[in-house]
Amino acid sequence: MTRIAGLPYQDDLPERAGVVVLGSGLAGCAALLAAAEAGRYAVMVEKTGSIGGSTVLSAGLSAFAGTDEQHALGITDSIELLRRDLLEVGDHRNDVALVDLYCAHQLETYSWLRRHGVVYGEIHAASGQTVPRSHPTDTTAMLVRLLVAAGKLGARLVMDTAAERLVYEDGRVVGVDVRLSSGERRRVWADAVVLATGGFARNNELLTRFAPQMEHALRAGGAGCEGDGLKMAMALGAGIRDMPYVKGTYGIYAEPHPHEDGTGILAVYKGAIAVNGAGQRFVDESRNYKEIGDVALRQPGGTTWQVLDATVMAQSSDDVPIYAFAERDRAGMLVRADSVEELEQRLALPAGSLQTTVADYNRRIASSEPDPMGREFLCGGFGRPFALDTPPFYAQPTKTVVLATYCGVTVDTHLRVLDWWGEPIGRLFAAGEIVGGFHGSGYMTGTSIGKAAIFGRLSGTHSAAVESELTW
Ligand SMILES: Cc1cc2nc3c(=O)[nH]c(=O)nc-3n(C[C@H](O)[C@H](O)[C@H](O)COP(=O)(O)OP(=O)(O)OC[C@H]3O[C@@H](n4cnc5c(N)ncnc54)[C@H](O)[C@@H]3O)c2cc1C
Repeated sequence: MTRIAGLPYQDDLPERAGVVVLGSGLAGCAALLAAAEAGRYAVMVEKTGSIGGSTVLSAGLSAFAGTDEQHALGITDSIELLRRDLLEVGDHRNDVALVDLYCAHQLETYSWLRRHGVVYGEIHAASGQTVPRSHPTDTTAMLVRLLVAAGKLGARLVMDTAAERLVYEDGRVVGVDVRLSSGERRRVWADAVVLATGGFARNNELLTRFAPQMEHALRAGGAGCEGDGLKMAMALGAGIRDMPYVKGTYGIYAEPHPHEDGTGILAVYKGAIAVNGAGQRFVDESRNYKEIGDVALRQPGGTTWQVLDATVMAQSSDDVPIYAFAERDRAGMLVRADSVEELEQRLALPAGSLQTTVADYNRRIASSEPDPMGREFLCGGFGRPFALDTPPFYAQPTKTVVLATYCGVTVDTHLRVLDWWGEPIGRLFAAGEIVGGFHGSGYMTGTSIGKAAIFGRLSGTHSAAVESELTW
């Protein structure tokens, strides 16, 4: 167990609490603090020995619009533009009420986080954003700040304790049955329960059932993200949304590697091409990395290569993980060769295949012929493709990884979990990655962390507002 000094750990599970929050990622931490700020005795139950789930593994980018960081860079953004982007990225399959909820509360949540000491670094544009609105932050530092603040208000954090079943009586959730690390089973009674247990990127059975297209994808995300909350809510009849839209992220190194941070590289956005095991291109490389991931998974074995030359390598940046090509070269993660022919041999691609692909690609660029894959830009409408003709040449064996699942239980705008017929399941709330409907069929970078913060905070406030029925 990794314990962090100053957090409000409690070894004994209390018998009762005002609000019980399941899961210690950003959604859970925001819910805990908001419930504590509303005056409730809030208790967090975390399955693993460490806080943070997927949140602390993430790149820490939040999508907010109209912030001080944007103003400082002269970027004009607005709620209307954010809303339009969210709906377009989601192909208008989103639950519009949840998109509006995000938009209505994103700026006040950003301010609330800043008031609690969260600091954002330099913002940049990322997938699905028509203007730069990815706000990076140190996620562990963020969670520690929220938990310390909650602890000062009396909230408590119980580790190594897995929620197993929701206790449902007289039409409402009244508690949670948990398993302690000793194996002992206990019950905690609660006025309200918030499910903040994250997604199911670590559960092969659920992935097979809901997202069989991810069969060849690698798996990442918090070790405890196994869909427990989803199963507990479904056992009470919860509705589910967006399950067909689980997507992987393109760019990850094809094998487990100690240097891989879970996000991979996107040399394609700086001019590289992506080829499959036949040495052929298979996608317009300027597309969203989730869409490239979808197409890459349909290539034999799901392994592809990003092929770059010295011109692409010269644009490497150690400060931006997805563009840290040189760092990967130093770590021995790139195959390097002095000619395309040698690279082809070193990748064991069919003789002549990569040479033909690169020569054809370069010839079309020189003669301004349309690209057969439809590539016109480097990334999202920016930059023009250029010939790959400057040695040395490099390739990263690249796969698609499931980082997050984005789909899950249906909720209303009070973050109450809804059953299959749209009726609230009494006193059961949900926030973060477990919530379905918000993203629709696509994903804008930064909206999963954003959703965890915004919906987490709101779920804490709303769950704290239920009438207390416990005798203290
Ligand atoms: C490598 C990587 C990079 C990413 N980068 C970004 C990014 O830059 N921007 C972005 O928006 N999104 C990103 N994501 C996705 C994002 O991190 C998550 O969607 C988000 O952090 C989810 O927050 P959460 O609080 O809902 O869940 P989590 O942070 O996953 O927390 C859930 C917690 O619940 C616990 N839990 C599970 N089951 C139980 C149980 N039965 N009882 C008690 N506790 C339980 C888990 O152990 C975990 O601690 C990334 C994900 C990964 C893996």
